[in-house]
Amino acid sequence: MRLILLGPPGAGKGTQATFLAEKLRIPHISTGEILRQAIAQKTSFGILAQSHLEAGELVPDSLILALMRERLAKQDALGGWVVDGFPRNLSQAQALDHILQILGQSYPLVVNLNVDTESLIRRMLQRGRQDDNENTIRRRLEVYQEKTSPLINFYKKRRCLININGNLPVMEVTRSLEKELSLESQI
Ligand code: AMP
Repeated sequence: MRLILLGPPGAGKGTQATFLAEKLRIPHISTGEILRQAIAQKTSFGILAQSHLEAGELVPDSLILALMRERLAKQDALGGWVVDGFPRNLSQAQALDHILQILGQSYPLVVNLNVDTESLIRRMLQRGRQDDNENTIRRRLEVYQEKTSPLINFYKKRRCLININGNLPVMEVTRSLEKELSLESQI
């Protein structure tokens, strides 16, 4: 199974993606995590990405696309994956279509986690990640509205969008995901 978790920052994409990847025994690929690791390790990639993360802006497409082209072609990703944090804008979504075509991988299901703005801000402030300060949070929400939210329509048109109410407690969101993806009977 190939899954993309879509939703605003703080919606719980990482938490649900971790759960789904474990349940389905497929890799969880988080572009945000990969970037944070690269920054911590001070790789050249991390150094290029750092200022963008700190400002709450998107990292340039060229960097992210090079990263994802390589990651999705790895052996462990051939049988399926759960991706969170990518694609983040229309050109990344179009590029992903192209990458999947080249790799001969089937089209993903896209889970859209809907969460109220108030809850998003509260969750991010509780999380306390380095890019979770008030200014960055505000900018990330704007960037989501401007650049990422058009993907909801993009995937709706491709008939692969599943809407999930992400305002509920974590376990209940997980349960509705299991139901929508028909995973209840799987181990
Ligand atoms: P996340 O952990 O998904 O909220 O991502 C944290 C930050 O990493 C974002 O605010 C962006 O600066 C950067 N980032 C993560 N994924 C992408 C992406 N697909 N394209 C551009 N920037 C990204």
